[in-house]
Amino acid sequence: MDAMTVTSWLRSCSAAIAEQKDYLTQLDAAIGDADHGSNMTRGFAAVEAKLDELDGGTPPGKLLIAAGQTLVSTVGGASGPLWGTALRRAGRSMGDVDAVDGQGLAAAVDAAVAGVVELGAAQPGDKTMVDALLPAAESLRIHLDGGDTLLASLAAASAAAEAGMRATVPMLARKGRASYLGERSIGHQDPGATSAAIIVAALERAVAGAR
Ligand code: ADP
Ligand code: MG
Repeated sequence: MDAMTVTSWLRSCSAAIAEQKDYLTQLDAAIGDADHGSNMTRGFAAVEAKLDELDGGTPPGKLLIAAGQTLVSTVGGASGPLWGTALRRAGRSMGDVDAVDGQGLAAAVDAAVAGVVELGAAQPGDKTMVDALLPAAESLRIHLDGGDTLLASLAAASAAAEAGMRATVPMLARKGRASYLGERSIGHQDPGATSAAIIVAALERAVAGAR
């Protein structure tokens, strides 16, 4: 995972989220305030603009930190600080190196998820992005440790994120705006878990394209 792969991942996130903007907003309309699609689209468009500004020699960790800062400053909703923290922690975990291997990527993903949990205090089962991210991080590590290739491990992580996303449907929201609805949050897919699955899927595509 080098600067080029990180750049293509962030651009792929931006494109995929923009494409799913209305869907994400619909999901947020059901159990939130109908801004998740626009929040995430605006944030990742600003990340793309930031990438255009940075020079080609910027190491991947620094790109992620800059992207995280951009999300924090451009996304007003809960998802801005949470994803901002995730990307900054991932970037800090990578440090100044030019590239990380699978284990380095897994460490960065773990750091990102830990940052989200630390900031948002959501537990698995609370119907948040954590329900997609934590299974993805665990799956990535299990598959890498089991000897699978990075790409196969990311495919497994992406499938786990999607399963985690679907599993939010019957959950009762205990964090964020959806928690205000109590029982009425049941039966709806969490918007943040949905964008998280989109973002993990984009990581698999970026690494596949880099090979
Ligand atoms: P807001 O809720 O401020 O309008 P968004 O609509 O952009 O922000 O994002 C909503 C998503 O943020 C939720 O679907 C959920 O996945 C996620 N979220 C909210 N609060 C938390 C939290 N404390 N921890 C983790 N994720 C959270
Ligand atoms: Mg919202």
